[in-house]
Amino acid sequence: MTSTVQEPIELLRNCLEEQFQRSTDQLAELTLRSRQRGFGGYDHDTLAALIASARQTVSETAHALKRMAEGSYGTCERCAVDIPLQRLEILPHARFCVPCQCRQTG
Ligand SMILES: [Zn+2]
Repeated sequence: MTSTVQEPIELLRNCLEEQFQRSTDQLAELTLRSRQRGFGGYDHDTLAALIASARQTVSETAHALKRMAEGSYGTCERCAVDIPLQRLEILPHARFCVPCQCRQTG
């Protein structure tokens, strides 16, 4: 039954699109502040960290949406195993299964 797996993917796609939009807006706003005198009330390091994090979210969500369009979304990029839906619901832009993610960062 393919109809049962389509729906969560649609939800994840909406979630990713919203996240992508939000991060893009956030990045634009933060970039604007970084050009203002006094960084719009932020200290330099905090602003730099926020920009880096927003930029990363933009690139991760864009990557996930691209994989969705290609039909390779939801499989681990390293070992090609299906990433469990519960993991994708928590982390929609997950690129690796949990064991591979641990090896990646550890
Ligand atoms: Zn894996």
